[in-house]
Amino acid sequence: MALEELYREVILDHYRSPRNRRTLPHPDASADGNNPLCGDDVRVELVIDRDVIVDIGVTGQGCSISQASGSMMGDAVKTKSIDHVHHLTDLFKGMMSIDGASDPGLDPDRPGAVLGDLEALQGVRKFPVRIKCADLPWTTLEEALKGYEAH
Ligand code: ZN
Repeated sequence: MALEELYREVILDHYRSPRNRRTLPHPDASADGNNPLCGDDVRVELVIDRDVIVDIGVTGQGCSISQASGSMMGDAVKTKSIDHVHHLTDLFKGMMSIDGASDPGLDPDRPGAVLGDLEALQGVRKFPVRIKCADLPWTTLEEALKGYEAH
């Protein structure tokens, strides 16, 4: 199977069977994000205990890229410390930026070693309009953490 086809399958799998797609009854932090260019909505809710994200709910609606990215993000950040999540966000956004491959913080040959399924989204980089779709859940997550850390 060609790599691009494999990536496409991974994205569709997350889109059709999104992980962590539920609202949490008592979140410690939450944020809503939207991407008007595409009409994507994402809501991120977090349960945080001693600076570790112990639970996450990602809901919303929109294109396959935004929803799949949210699903993958939930898996990637659950049980991780806030510091590590900031690091993952930088890695992901670095991978998704047009010149991501030249980002010294990311090994262009093996981003998947850290990012797992999220690696499948790097093909989106070829479609600049869709990069905002892929970034949306992460931007919303950062917004939620900013509100939490301000307390
Ligand atoms: Zn979109």
